[in-house]
Amino acid sequence: MVLKIFTIADSRSFLIYLLRLVFLICLSVSFVNPVLAEKGDYVLFVQSYTSKLSCSKIWNEGIKNQLSNVKGKKTEIKTFYLNAKFLSYTEEKAKLSSLLDSIHNNPPILIITEGDEALYSLINTRHADIKDYPIVFMGLQYVDHKILSNYPNICGYSSVPEYLQSIHIIVNLFPEARDFICLTEDNFVSSKARNLFMKEWNSFSAKNPSYHLSEYNISKMPTTLLVSKLQFNRHVTDKVVIVPKWTPYTSVLGKSSQCPFFTVASESVGNGAFAAYAPEPSIEAKEVGKLVCGILNGEINPRVREIEQSQTAMMFDYKQLDYFNISFKNAINYGKIYHRSFYEEYKLVILIASIILSVVTVLLIIILLRSWRKGLRQKRDIILNEQINESLYEQRAIYDDMYHSMTECIITYNTNYQVNFINKSLKNLLFETNDSIINGREYFGIDSDRLFYVYNEGRDILQELITKVIKEKKLVEVSKKSFLRGVIHRVSVPITGVLFPILSNGVLKGVCFEFKDSTEDEINKNLLTMAVENSQIIPWRYSLSHSCFIFQEGYLESIGFAKDMNLLSRDKVTSLIHPDNIEDALKQFDGLEKTGNCVMTFRAMDGYGEYLSYECRCKYIDIMLDNAMSFNIVGVLQNVQRFKNVENDLIEARDDAQKANEIKSHFLANMSHEIRTPLNSIIGFSSILKDLLNESNEDVKEMCSAIETNGNLLLDIVNDVMDLSMIESESKFYDIKKYSLNELLINYVDVNHQKLNDGVALKLEIPDTQFEVETDKEKLGHVLGNLISNAKKFTTKGIVTVGYRTNVSGDKAIIYVEDTGIGIAKENLSAIFERFYKVDRFKQGTGLGLSFCKSVLENLGGKISVSSELGKGTRFEIYLPASLKK
Ligand code: ADP
Repeated sequence: MVLKIFTIADSRSFLIYLLRLVFLICLSVSFVNPVLAEKGDYVLFVQSYTSKLSCSKIWNEGIKNQLSNVKGKKTEIKTFYLNAKFLSYTEEKAKLSSLLDSIHNNPPILIITEGDEALYSLINTRHADIKDYPIVFMGLQYVDHKILSNYPNICGYSSVPEYLQSIHIIVNLFPEARDFICLTEDNFVSSKARNLFMKEWNSFSAKNPSYHLSEYNISKMPTTLLVSKLQFNRHVTDKVVIVPKWTPYTSVLGKSSQCPFFTVASESVGNGAFAAYAPEPSIEAKEVGKLVCGILNGEINPRVREIEQSQTAMMFDYKQLDYFNISFKNAINYGKIYHRSFYEEYKLVILIASIILSVVTVLLIIILLRSWRKGLRQKRDIILNEQINESLYEQRAIYDDMYHSMTECIITYNTNYQVNFINKSLKNLLFETNDSIINGREYFGIDSDRLFYVYNEGRDILQELITKVIKEKKLVEVSKKSFLRGVIHRVSVPITGVLFPILSNGVLKGVCFEFKDSTEDEINKNLLTMAVENSQIIPWRYSLSHSCFIFQEGYLESIGFAKDMNLLSRDKVTSLIHPDNIEDALKQFDGLEKTGNCVMTFRAMDGYGEYLSYECRCKYIDIMLDNAMSFNIVGVLQNVQRFKNVENDLIEARDDAQKANEIKSHFLANMSHEIRTPLNSIIGFSSILKDLLNESNEDVKEMCSAIETNGNLLLDIVNDVMDLSMIESESKFYDIKKYSLNELLINYVDVNHQKLNDGVALKLEIPDTQFEVETDKEKLGHVLGNLISNAKKFTTKGIVTVGYRTNVSGDKAIIYVEDTGIGIAKENLSAIFERFYKVDRFKQGTGLGLSFCKSVLENLGGKISVSSELGKGTRFEIYLPASLKK
């Protein structure tokens, strides 16, 4: 080839050749180098055209798949693209020659050629290595037996065009097509193809003379003319173009033309041709692959192998069918449809996939929606939970504050005997502090016995109490006489309280221990007990529903009943009351519901069988209904036997005193009587003696007169004493009758009229109307006589007025004795009714008169009062009832 180049004299041609040489070198380097670079067992696959052919990939893949059947080493396939359409025949040979040179040192185990260009250009390189390789060809349209006979190492599949068959299919698919156009070229392969087509056409047209054939030589016709001949306004079906040898140029024409192009090259399908009657690439690749495997595995000897024809069929382009409105059904009758749109190809799959996808999408949306809503719900729940938590914290704080404000000590435990909460009172008690701020949960989680013990009878009972509450789920009372002992500060106090379960919907959550320091209570209780014991006041309660009395503990035992007895039935209590008091006591007790309260005294038998006096105060509590409270009547019972004894002693003493008084009065009356009799004799005889004496015995006469006066004074005293003693001893013996007060007063005043001092007048003031009184005439006369006597005695000038008036209601008479005498000082007024009282000790009188008046008037149902002004006079008023009520 180099020699040939240098023989060209023409410098222009030389330059062209030089450029071509450079180009070829570049080509060789660019295309061959990849092949050169790699070593190992491989099959070289030389394709006539480029990798852009749609079937190129199918061939590669199909053969590669078959190569996996090669025994021994793994066999690769390396493809070389000749790209013959852009190269001249010489260039093709140069390119392949370079290729063969490059693989000389790393030779393939077999060479596959595809298409006429690849095989014939390879053979015509006349490279020394050609005969060394087993060569398998495929897609060989024009089999040159003469050449091939020189190469026994070459065998393969031909694909000789079957134009007649194609023409028949065209006629059937395009019934109106009458004009056939054949595109030819002036090169070796094209002219071979043209000749073959013409041969076939002639045999067809001989039988079908109505069909016409025009031949356009691409090499000779200007492109514009050619294009204009193949251009139509819209797609035409009465014209058909047949391309015996397909090239990229015819591909361009096919793409731009509006009439269907038919070829015999599979690569034209999808590249402007309507259809190609050619071997189907995948089948072709499979056939060739199998042959290659057979040769490489030593099963087939290429030297004895006959050239075989590849299976051919009509290959339709899907888009072209659609463009020319040829039904797919019809087309399928003659061959296969290629380049279907993805949608058409996988319609069902797409439909199913779409449905699945839709379902999945819907499901996904539902799942997303649900998860979104769930997320929303969770978010809401979280917010709600936060709010609940906040309000719970607030509520807990309120409850905590409430517990802290309580004076009772409170502690809660969980079911594992661990502390949850303690209130302020307990903390202050245990640690002897007085904190005002306390959390209450400082001791959360510590064991119950780390804070305090509860001792009873010498042992710690706290755990036992908690266990009991946990087991029984019931309130448990702390045993009596228990006391708390602090673990840290060793504080020790008596306590009373309860433990109860903390239940939530019936489930035990913990235990609450509520108690209080009972020191004060104990002291108060003892004081109360002492007070009760000393005063003998015993509180009791009575249950109407159970008809029984409950007494203070120990009381019944203290009065002789059985030990530990503190309850008595109503019947028992009734049987203990003295028969004399039963009726009254029961009447008062049963009437409590109406009266509300009562006080009764009775005698009742104690446990020793002795009757003692009691005062019992009872109170009915109406708000304590039977179903709300057990006890409706409460009261206190007081043993009054002591007082009763004192009372009896007093009565006895009084009676004795009265008796003595009576004896005294009796004695005085008798004595007065006995004294009066001799006195009367003395006075009488001294009076007679005085009258018997004459003028000369003046002194004796005077002495007799003195004896008479003093005897009278003594008689007055005796009379007064007698009157008083008579009143006291015979107070019950009054002679009560009805009298006219007017007459009584006239009678009394008249009697005294004669004995007034000089310069003193006596006046009687009586109303015109009569007024009757029930009274003892004599005793009232004594009273008035005393008052008038006093008035006369202490009045030296003026007037003494006696009278009466009635009160407004007319049931009382107000008798008055008024004088204008010396009067009585204010400070002495209250004492003048006392026995033996006199303002002036040296004044004549016993001081018994007014005392007598007071006593008599009281017995007559009246009373006496005095008003006086010193130096001006005195007024006594007697209030006397008209009738004496019994
Ligand atoms: P007597 O017998 O001494 O009068 P009374 O009991 O009658 O005793 O009176 C007691 C005293 O009251 C008298 O001593 C006198 O001082 C005083 N008294 C009684 N009546 C009058 C009166 N009318 N005017 C002044 N003083 C009187």
